[in-house]
Amino acid sequence: MPTASTAYRGRLAPSPTGAQHVGNARTYLIAWLRARSQGGRIVLRIEDIDSPRVKAGADRQACDDLRWLGLDWDEGPVVQTQRLADYEEALRRLQEQERVYPCTCTRADVERAASAPHDDRPGASLYPGTCAGRRVADADALPAPYCWRFRLSQDEFEFRDGFLGAVSVDLRAAGGDFVVWKSAGTPAYQLAVVVDDAAQGVSEVVRGDDLVPSTPRQLLLYDALGLVPPRFVHVPLVVGPDGRRLAKRHGDTRLWSLRQAGVTPEALLGLLAWSCGWIDKRREVCAAELLPLFQLESIPAVPFVLTPDLLREIGYLP
Ligand code: GLU
Repeated sequence: MPTASTAYRGRLAPSPTGAQHVGNARTYLIAWLRARSQGGRIVLRIEDIDSPRVKAGADRQACDDLRWLGLDWDEGPVVQTQRLADYEEALRRLQEQERVYPCTCTRADVERAASAPHDDRPGASLYPGTCAGRRVADADALPAPYCWRFRLSQDEFEFRDGFLGAVSVDLRAAGGDFVVWKSAGTPAYQLAVVVDDAAQGVSEVVRGDDLVPSTPRQLLLYDALGLVPPRFVHVPLVVGPDGRRLAKRHGDTRLWSLRQAGVTPEALLGLLAWSCGWIDKRREVCAAELLPLFQLESIPAVPFVLTPDLLREIGYLP
């Protein structure tokens, strides 16, 4: 009989930095089916600490989108901005162990110093280690705003992923010493997500494979904080016909817009289920009907290409 510590606990963790789109829906569907097919519980967490980017009302809309899809949860919403004391406590623990150091580099400093060969990926800035010689106590003498960075002691990191198998990440190429606390005085995603997944007893994280480079950082934080990490399952994203991650450039694929246009959740779920290999032909299905059909292994290892034709087929004509 499973005990409390082995029971499956998953989570859905929307960021209210914008509207949820078809790509988010596919990942949520996989995460929901993965948990529910094992009789697991689901925590809903609103990841709203990225304050300048958070959009008013997007949290409520994300909940409405999930309900529209027929994806439910047992606990939450847990709201990150209401949990700042826990993140502060984790930062203190890292400081006590000298695992972090105060960094006064601006984003522009980091970008200027980023070495070209590693930096051809958009958004990737390699931190050159300018402030790595500092100790925690040096922060007292720093006048300017500063962030806290985690000091890496290794380059390569390997972990086992429930979908991808063995994964190896070059931590330096992925950005080097990473920020755990922003100069604005708020926790960075990497720290908050670890503190939360541990506090909420999450046994497995199912999320998009764009977050693979974050996983070693999070595993290092679990280790430094003496917390038990969850298992990780990273699934391929939805892309547009140009092969790039689904975004505004591909037109309006917001769930809210599909709903307004009269698309039924069953039509969208059928398309997503077909894209994951759970049904042979595209047809209308509801989330619960997919429970016996769900298999992680049948999801193609490549991104799902969403075309205007597929959207038209489910009745979406923006
Ligand atoms: N809130 C993140 C997002 O919506 C997910 C973070 C995670 O799953 O760890 O992209």
